[in-house]
Formats: sequence, structure tokens, C-alpha cells
Amino acid sequence: MLPGRVEFEGSILPGIFLRSRFSQIVLLVVALLAFLPVVAVDHVIDGYVMARETTALQTTVDAITHDSQLTVHEGIQSLRRILANSPSLCAATFVDNFNSELQSNPFLRQVIVQNSDGVQYCSAFGHAVQYRVLSENLTIPGHTETLSVVAIDGIETPLLKITQAFGRERTVSALVLASPMLMRNDVPLLGQISYLQVALTSGSSILLRGDERIGQGAVRDDYIFARSFAGEIPLKAEAGVSFSQVRSGYSPLDIGFTVAACFMGGLILVLAIQYARKADIVAFDLERAIIAGEMKPYYQPVINLRTGKLIGCEVLIRWVKKNGEVIPPGVFIDYAEMSGLAIPMTLSLMEQVRYDLEDICREVPDFKVSINLFEGHFRDGSIVEDIQSVFEGSGISYRQLVFEITERRPLDDRNAANRVMTAMHKLGVRIAMDDAGTGHSNLAYLQTLGIDIIKIDKIFVEMIRDANQPVPVVDALISMAKDLDIDIIAEGVETQEQALYLRSKNVVFAQGYLFAPPLKLSSFLVLASALRPSSRESNLEPGLAA
Ligand code: C2E
Ligand code: CA
Ligand code: CA
Repeated sequence: MLPGRVEFEGSILPGIFLRSRFSQIVLLVVALLAFLPVVAVDHVIDGYVMARETTALQTTVDAITHDSQLTVHEGIQSLRRILANSPSLCAATFVDNFNSELQSNPFLRQVIVQNSDGVQYCSAFGHAVQYRVLSENLTIPGHTETLSVVAIDGIETPLLKITQAFGRERTVSALVLASPMLMRNDVPLLGQISYLQVALTSGSSILLRGDERIGQGAVRDDYIFARSFAGEIPLKAEAGVSFSQVRSGYSPLDIGFTVAACFMGGLILVLAIQYARKADIVAFDLERAIIAGEMKPYYQPVINLRTGKLIGCEVLIRWVKKNGEVIPPGVFIDYAEMSGLAIPMTLSLMEQVRYDLEDICREVPDFKVSINLFEGHFRDGSIVEDIQSVFEGSGISYRQLVFEITERRPLDDRNAANRVMTAMHKLGVRIAMDDAGTGHSNLAYLQTLGIDIIKIDKIFVEMIRDANQPVPVVDALISMAKDLDIDIIAEGVETQEQALYLRSKNVVFAQGYLFAPPLKLSSFLVLASALRPSSRESNLEPGLAA
């Protein structure tokens, strides 16, 4: 290590390089996003199970109503055939016809002939049939028959009673099984069903199994529920299955998906980090670059337009990567400010400036070094101590230092800014308003802030096309600064005409590509030794020589 060089990985900086909160947040968000698939697995499988099982249950209740509808239709057909082929009711032919229908319709249980008051004349098996009526009589749309529910001795489940009027006095009813597939127990999901009801659309129950509260909606959130209407007959079926019960059947899927999601999350994380590194996402690298000493000062000469000699320089930061690539400040400066890294970055820069320029500053007492600050420096206040810690007792005296604050961003806390500027003035450093004319503040306000120098922005200098053609905006800026006794430096001077025009308006100091771009130290020192005024020449106007 060179003598006097500040060791960035050593003594001064580590305490200051607290990890920036912003990059921690970015990393945290990426990590969270990467593991979102893992967290979402349960939710996704829940949704999948819910959709799949709801469809399955709907298919089941649809099958039940379809089955009932078929049974009723076949019952109607049987009843119609018996009536069509029996010249008189309750005669032998009637019983024969019933018996032959029994062969073809396994759901038919009984046929009863009775009068409108319910007094039975006969039944298919000869004797009177004992049954209880469990519902009202509902019409079957598009049919002359009606439908009701009855319970008959000796048969466990209620039957459907299909009734046809016969003449004015009599009715003939066929009793059929309500939902034969349920008797066969071959309904899918039946073993898991917590609630099942088959009922007339009026609500009269034909069959009820399980917890009735599910059908009433009381505990439905925990259940998958489905309902189906027969459509052609006034009958419906509904069912509920416990979600947790069916969900437990999917646990192998849980394991498989979780493993896949972990893999995917890890992959996203790795790809994101790789992408961030490849794309040079500043957030991931700036802190490391500062600590590794990759942030380097470049120096742009400031020239006396009258003598053509060097009066000082502006320090402009560059990110010089290990592979030699040079990144301009526009890429990272906003992030540095936002993340709070601007403060340690400026400190690191000042350390290097001290080391780089101590000799020239000792040799040329009028040499001025201009360093850019951030708006945050004027809120934070620690810049005053940082200036002292770097330059106190160094070969660069306070009166050789200028600190620039840009007018592009307003100073939010003017009181704090005033306190910081007062403390800086007490040290003997001076303050320049950078990019003057581009921001919001007027020059009178600059005076109250104690601004010593304004730097006329290059957008105004660009307006000068001809050394003899007046540019009123530039003239107004210059005359206001002179009225307020503020020094002027013109920025972005690229042509001879601009230099001549400015000189004719008594603007003495300028920087720009006409003279030199920002240079790395070695090139700057070569140029400086060529353009340096001799020790007897004073280069400065009375104001800047302060
Ligand atoms: P700035 O402070 O206004 O610096 C002048 C910019 O104009 C520099 O751009 C410089 O390279 C460029 N420039 C100089 N002469 C000419 C010219 O004749 N024509 C044109 N077109 N441009 C010229 P750079 O170095 O890219 O810096 C851009 C900005 O980044 C600076 O604008 C300043 O606001 C900021 N910056 C650079 N270094 C630092 C730093 O160390 N601290 C802070 N706070 N800001 C910095
Ligand atoms: Ca500047
Ligand atoms: Ca500027």
C-alpha cells in the first residue's frame, strides 16, 4: 500500500459501511418472491381439490336426480300401460298386467286403485295397502300424473307415488322406488358424503342422511356442497362432503408439489441473483464497489478564460471496475442518494482526493478543488465532521475547497441546510450552487443561503452559438450573480465562441470539453503541470482568491 493512501478495507470506513437498508429490502423482496411458490403450494392444492371435488360431487347429485327422474318416467309408462291394457280395474287382467310390468320395471312396487277420499278399491296384490302420506301432491310438468311421497309398511325408504285420475271418482297410483341407485350403494363419493338429501322441490324430504345443518348452510364453509334439480320432475338432490376429509386424500400431492416448489423457488433465486450480477444492478454491487475502492475521482480542469491557465478542478466520480470498465455517475448516483450510500461514497472520494491532490495544492496555493455533495449531506450534517476528519492538517487547506450543491433538487429542510452551510463557512470552505438556473430557487434565495459561487449550467452555455450574438438568459444570470457579488463558473463550454462570449461578459472561469473532459488522475496531473500558472502569477479574480 502506498504511503498516506487511505485503506478502505482497514481503519476508517468499515464502521460507516453499514449495509444499506434499500439493498437489504431488495434482497428480502427477491427472496420472498422466490419462495412464494412454496408458500402458495397449500393454497393452490386447496383450490385444485375444491374445484375437482365440487365437480365430482355435482356429478354425483346430478346422477341421483337423473336416476330418480328415469324411475318416475318408467313408473308413468308402467302405469299408463296397465291402465291401457286393463278394461276394468281390480279385475284379473289388471293384476296380470301389473305382474307383467313388474318383469320389466324392477322399481315398481305396488299399484293402488282408490277413490278421491283415499278409500281403496283394490291393489295389485289384492289386499289393502297401509301407507302414510308424507307430502303434498305435486303436478309433473307436461304430464297428467301427479307426484307425492309415501311411506309403506315393510319398505324402509319412502316411495314415490305417481297418481293418474281414472274417471271422475277414481285414481290409480303406482308406487316406485325413489332413487334406486342409492339402494345399490354404487354412488361415487357415497362413502365420504356427510350430508345427502333427496326431496321434492316443495321441500318434502324423501331421503335424508347425515348432518342436516349442512343443507341449511349453517356449517357450509367447511364443506363442499352441490345441488341438482331433476328438471322434468319436481325433485331435487343435494349433498355435502367435508373438505378436510377429501383434502387428506391428496397428501401425496402436497409432498410432490412442495418439493417442486422448493426447487422452483431456489431456481428463481439463483437466476435473479445471477441476472442482478450480470445486469450490473447497482443495488447489489454499489456497497461492495465502495468498500473495494472501485469508486474513483476523475478531475475536470477549471480554466481561467483570460490567462488560459488552470485554476482548479471539479471532482467527478467514476465507477472503475476491476475489468477496467468505467461506469459514469448517471448509472448509480440516484441509487447512492436513495440508499444513503452517498455519505460514505463522498467520504471515500474525499479521502482519495486528499491523497491525489495534496501535492498540487501545496505547490499552488490558489488551486481550487470542487467536490459535489448530495442533498442528503445538508440534512445529515455529518459532512462537516467528514470534511474536518479528511482535510484537517492535510496539504489541502479549507480555503482551497469548494463544495457544490445542485439546484436541480430543492433543499427540503432549509433550516438544517443553513446550519450545515454556516458550519462549513466557519471552516473556511466555500459553497457553489451547481446547475444554476435549472432549479426552482431564485438568486436572492441563493444569497440568503450564503452561496459563494454559481455554476452556470451547460444548457445555458449551449445557447451561445456566436461570440457576438447576445443570449439574454445567460446575460441575465451573469448580471444577477454580479449584483449579488457571487462568483461565476461556466460549465459545459465546448466551443471557442462560447468561451469568447463568456469572457466578453466578464465570466472568467470555465470548464468543458473545449479544455478537457474529466480525466483520471495521471492524465490530469500531466495537463495540470502544463497549464499551471507560475508561482508568481495569480490566476484568480479577487473573489475566488479569497
Ligand atoms: P455536474 O456536477 O453538473 O457535472 C458536470 C457534468 O458535465 C459531468 O458529467 C461532466 O463530465 C459533464 N461535462 C463537463 N464538461 C462538459 C461539456 O463540455 N459538455 C458536456 N456535454 N458535458 C460536460 P458526469 O461526470 O457524467 O457527472 C454527471 C453528474 O453526476 C454531475 O453533474 C453531478 O451532478 C453528478 N456527480 C458526479 N460526480 C459526483 C460526486 O462525486 N458527487 C455528487 N454528489 N454528484 C456527482
Ligand atoms: Ca458539479
Ligand atoms: Ca453542473
